[in-house]
Amino acid sequence: MVRAGSRAILVKPAKLEIVQAGNPVLRQRARPLSLTEIRSREIRKLIETMRTCMREAPGVGLAAPQLGLPLQLAVIEDREEYHKEVSEALLKERERSPLPFHVIINPELEVVGEEKAEFFEGCLSLAGFTALVSRARAVRVTCLDEHAKHKVIEATGWYARILQHEIDHLAGTLYIDRMHARSFTSMENLAAFWKGKPVNEIREELEQKSS
Ligand code: ZN
Repeated sequence: MVRAGSRAILVKPAKLEIVQAGNPVLRQRARPLSLTEIRSREIRKLIETMRTCMREAPGVGLAAPQLGLPLQLAVIEDREEYHKEVSEALLKERERSPLPFHVIINPELEVVGEEKAEFFEGCLSLAGFTALVSRARAVRVTCLDEHAKHKVIEATGWYARILQHEIDHLAGTLYIDRMHARSFTSMENLAAFWKGKPVNEIREELEQKSS
């Protein structure tokens, strides 16, 4: 248990399972953590658990609500080994490069500039599906790290997308709330029908089919 004033919450996830869309916890606004909580053994253990879950999935980000806990905490890591299956061209187009493991707590996100980037994006809580999501290309995030130290992150490209996706989770928002709805597809069908096509062509094709 972690005690925050008179409040006490159970921080141990019921089971090490990533909750799927439909679970109300994914639609709740997560609550911030106090400095005492951040330094507690329970939160340290939770961060370890989240790292394990994210790696096992595998994924490049995981927010506490995805383990059933409505807390403003997320972990991020984009390992080099994940890039082996992605073409050089796609990595470049997505502005994706490896990110070391790190923790964001009580984050505030600010969009930088007006540039947008649109790519297929997935979520461990909507396993097996993906859709085109337009996001800001650059963001600034102010947050605390796992030592309760103040941190400012400036990010562009895929990292900016991961941050927006994870911070959305803390506000009860999922990518399906922001997606180009007609592009929603199973991963299998993405590979079968859309792989390798530029995003603007996919959009065009989907829009033609609607008229
Ligand atoms: Zn997600």
